Amino acid sequence: MPLTTDYLVIGSGVAGLTFALEASAFGDVIVLTKRSVDESNTKYAQGGIAAVLSTADSFAAHIKDTLEAGAGLCHERTVEICVTEGPARVRRLQEIGARFDLAEKGHDGDTDLDLHLEGGHSARRVAHAADMTGREVERALLEAVKRSPRVRILEDHCAVDLITLAKYGGPDVCAGAYALDEESGQVVTVLARAVILASGGAGKVYLYTTNPDVASGDGVAMAYRAGAEIANMEFYQFHPTCLFHPQAKRFLLTEAMRGEGAILRRLDGTPFMKSHDPRGDLAPRDVVARAVDFEMKKSGAEHVWLDITDKKPEFVRERFPNIYEECLRWGIDISTQPIPVVPAAHFMCGGITTNFEGRTTIPGLWAIGECASTGLHGANRLASNSLLEGLVFAHRAAEALKDLDRSKPWPEVPEWETGTAGPSDEAVVITQNWDELRRLMWNYVGIVRSSTRLRRAARRIAMLQEEIVEYYWKYFVTRDLLELRNIATVAQLIVECAESRKESRGLHFTIDYPTTDPKLARDTVLKRGVAAHMR
Ligand SMILES: Cc1cc2nc3c(=O)[nH]c(=O)nc-3n(C[C@H](O)[C@H](O)[C@H](O)COP(=O)(O)OP(=O)(O)OC[C@H]3O[C@@H](n4cnc5c(N)ncnc54)[C@H](O)[C@@H]3O)c2cc1C
Repeated sequence: MPLTTDYLVIGSGVAGLTFALEASAFGDVIVLTKRSVDESNTKYAQGGIAAVLSTADSFAAHIKDTLEAGAGLCHERTVEICVTEGPARVRRLQEIGARFDLAEKGHDGDTDLDLHLEGGHSARRVAHAADMTGREVERALLEAVKRSPRVRILEDHCAVDLITLAKYGGPDVCAGAYALDEESGQVVTVLARAVILASGGAGKVYLYTTNPDVASGDGVAMAYRAGAEIANMEFYQFHPTCLFHPQAKRFLLTEAMRGEGAILRRLDGTPFMKSHDPRGDLAPRDVVARAVDFEMKKSGAEHVWLDITDKKPEFVRERFPNIYEECLRWGIDISTQPIPVVPAAHFMCGGITTNFEGRTTIPGLWAIGECASTGLHGANRLASNSLLEGLVFAHRAAEALKDLDRSKPWPEVPEWETGTAGPSDEAVVITQNWDELRRLMWNYVGIVRSSTRLRRAARRIAMLQEEIVEYYWKYFVTRDLLELRNIATVAQLIVECAESRKESRGLHFTIDYPTTDPKLARDTVLKRGVAAHMR
């Protein structure tokens, strides 16, 4: 028997939980989440949420900063919506119990919040909870959601595919999803009046990423397979400095370290940023990421150094206590030793195309948060605008779905069929393809691209996909297999979008078209059966 609900939410980060909380006022909600409920990109967000929260700031300034970062591709109306509706969403988080750092009244404008200034922002506007904002947002939302009797959270349930009725001779409507219940090993069917993808980013498509393991682009891959339009996948943001250590996963070294005088050096100790940009180590995030990538590719080195040993040890320990302690855990005393760093995939600017309410191109299917392409980020994301985007569009989607049509009977859809599949006796195929795919994405489709490398990547991805599909039909599904299939799809979409953009813009840089072409200030869009093209 299928499970049925009014709203099926896939993902429990800031977007999914915000939607679940608000929609629970209008109906029953099931939240599927593939590991423990709080495991998400949201939990690891450090900096904070950007919003105009002080009289010393203005909507016009936040809009301008966002548009500038987006390099000509932001949708102005989306930016306007996010910026003007953002403050109310931050206040709402406070109402449900999120505790942001407070400042003295009158500290900067008339705000009660301690607002940070971040790169690319022309005013102090980043609300934060120390450097663990995401953890606090996730905690507050979860506590509120758990108080609602109308929300049911299913942990360790990995959505496999969306259920679209067209596949069974019905209308082109999304009516639910199949999900793997990891405890029982069974695939369950969930039918819903509205399906909301809130499945986050896809950092795991690259060898190095700041994202947790859940970020395998499942939502984008499922939406693509179901026939939804996808946009701007070539714009992947890389953070320039992530700790390089075989055991330390995804530890970010804040850009504030370079602000305080840390220097990037080659393995032989030579500083290199000045030869890439006159601003040296203080150049913007994407410029630094490109320079580090260039140095690593040129020398074949596995990392570069980030060195703050010129500063007094007491200063380093006091200014960066968290980083000091974390690196010490891995045997690196940052006050006396340089830190091995690599750039790492951080944020997916593109995703599933949506309108101003989170509606996708498939009726019944909605997308919010990092998996959506709302037009806010354009070709590059302004720091701390992504939690904001999740909050604003989750709220808008819930409002738009207030009055659900419950008149129709539930559709007849087949239960998940295992066919002739059996247990796998060669899981090595998964690990091999997983490593190969992520490494080839890093080397060929990373920060600096070329037409030749993209072509090579496309060929190899197609080959790996063939093997993955063969494996998929032969054996029982597992989460590892589902994630592998999804990162392969996301890899394919990134390459297709990147190949079709014959210029460099924002986060997409190719040596074959190194300049920006004003005629190409358009989105790249594609869907299953329709090749990537500019719109
Ligand atoms: C280290 C780090 C620091 C960051 N700092 C900031 C910052 O300071 N400010 C800012 O604005 N942004 C920041 N970001 C980005 C921001 O955290 C994310 O963009 C945002 O949290 C995404 O929220 P989301 O709800 O869309 O997705 P997520 O929070 O990633 O949640 C996705 C959810 O979907 C679930 N899921 C995925 N696939 C499936 C599936 N198949 N079935 C079931 N469940 C599934 C996951 O388990 C998870 O629960 C940072 C990101 C990282 C990684």
